[in-house]
Amino acid sequence: MRAVILRLILNFLKIVSMALKTKSQFQNFLKQQGLKWTPERERVFQEASVMEGHFEAEELAYRLRKKGSRISKATVYRTLPLLVRTGLIKDVIHGEKHQHYEHIHEENLHDHLICLKCGKIVEFEEESLTKIERKVCAKYQFQPQKILIEIFGCCRECR
Ligand SMILES: [Zn+2]
Ligand SMILES: [Zn+2]
Repeated sequence: MRAVILRLILNFLKIVSMALKTKSQFQNFLKQQGLKWTPERERVFQEASVMEGHFEAEELAYRLRKKGSRISKATVYRTLPLLVRTGLIKDVIHGEKHQHYEHIHEENLHDHLICLKCGKIVEFEEESLTKIERKVCAKYQFQPQKILIEIFGCCRECR
């Protein structure tokens, strides 16, 4: 019982310290770029931090509006790429009408299958793919920053 509580506390502390770490990462990045840490950018950062799974700029803007924020869509559209460049989120599902984003979770590396008919996105994990990616990078002494495998096609229901 005591071990469970201890683990819960440790997990909580981990989440809090992660949040503080990512915030200072974003602040440092803006500083390096000569950009200001504004309340609007902070709000977009906060909201992006609590989004789950894949999301679009439009969805984030809508959620901010619903919470009474007056941040313009343009600000949201401009701020998300900054979060990508900071390395806090990544842009996934390329070639779609709208850019999709998701968090970078070290422990949850996955790739995507995208149905071109219904727009469904399936996440999959394939260890052998990861091994091949590592092998290719090692062969060319290439340090990977972002690896994306996106397979576009037709899902079982749409076929
Ligand atoms: Zn489909
Ligand atoms: Zn995903």
